[in-house]
Amino acid sequence: MESKEELVRKEENRFMETQRPARVYSAARPTGRQHIGNYLGAIQNYVALQNDFQSIYAIADVHALTTIETTQGLKENCLEMALDWFAAGIDPEKSIVFIQSHVPQVMELHTYLSMVVAVGKLTDLPTFKEKVRMHPQNVNYGLLGYPVLMSADILLFKTDFVPVGIDQAPHLEFAREIVRSFNYRYRTDVLIEPQMKATATPKIIGTDGVNKMSKSLDNDIEIAADEKTTEKRVRSMVTDTNRVRRSDPGNPDICNVFAFHKIFSPPELCAEIDRECRVAGIGCVDCKKKLAADLNASLAPLRERRAELAKNPDRVWESLRAGAKRAGAIADATIAEVRNAIGIVKP
Ligand code: ADP
Repeated sequence: MESKEELVRKEENRFMETQRPARVYSAARPTGRQHIGNYLGAIQNYVALQNDFQSIYAIADVHALTTIETTQGLKENCLEMALDWFAAGIDPEKSIVFIQSHVPQVMELHTYLSMVVAVGKLTDLPTFKEKVRMHPQNVNYGLLGYPVLMSADILLFKTDFVPVGIDQAPHLEFAREIVRSFNYRYRTDVLIEPQMKATATPKIIGTDGVNKMSKSLDNDIEIAADEKTTEKRVRSMVTDTNRVRRSDPGNPDICNVFAFHKIFSPPELCAEIDRECRVAGIGCVDCKKKLAADLNASLAPLRERRAELAKNPDRVWESLRAGAKRAGAIADATIAEVRNAIGIVKP
């Protein structure tokens, strides 16, 4: 039997929950300085969402522990990532931005959720199999539980929407199944099924012209790189491989440099390159020079803001700490309800 106080608190929580604006939650592992793929594929979307939702964005350092060999540089990577996020317009006043481990309630929820997940389900997941292939020397328990921790992240904040690309839909379905299992097992409705907020995020191809841009493949261009480094990375970009000599006509439709022009260059220049490339009127070297210039111009304001923020890292840490405090308050409320639903003995 629930006490009168508990019933009142439950009703209050319920009331607060119905009054609050819809929440979005997303997290990314601390990969340090962000690249153009992160920027166009995730960060810009985070910035847009914070105007319409209560947005919660986490730097998932605990998730990172599943695969990294050393924690040296972990702190630095969190800071570098936060600098890029804030410089790109994620506003720590509007959004709740924090480091995952600073809200340790997620670990508790992870443990409770793990009781309603079948091991076979985890070992069957394609993402787990892929990670085993990539890290055969380090198939740790945390790796297996990765999707459970991810679900705990989402469910802890009673997230309404998770912005994911269509390829990540199975991950969200996993979290939704956990909600159903948990709520059924404990005859409760404390956890809510998050919905997918499908986003038309582009898949950015790296400088190798074939693979998704990624730090680990060393085919990335950092958003906050200096101008010279950006020029160098752009120079190394693979173009239309059928175009061998300068006099060969190229095909912009299959050229990754042109794909970048379409994002960062004005329409007139894109039209000119589209026309001239096909008749060998412009060579790849010049085409890349123009891209590097436009890329540097587009990212200049972000880089300026970042340089300003980087002068005072303490302020960035302070924002992250404040974010953790706000996130922690939501987490505490959820954990109290979850414990109560399970029937855990009160301290
Ligand atoms: P995580 O594995 O934690 O998601 P990543 O650094 O791989 O960390 O990605 C962070 C975010 O950036 C994710 O939302 C991911 O989809 C997005 N992202 C990463 N690389 C690219 C890319 N090349 N194109 C589009 N989006 C990308």
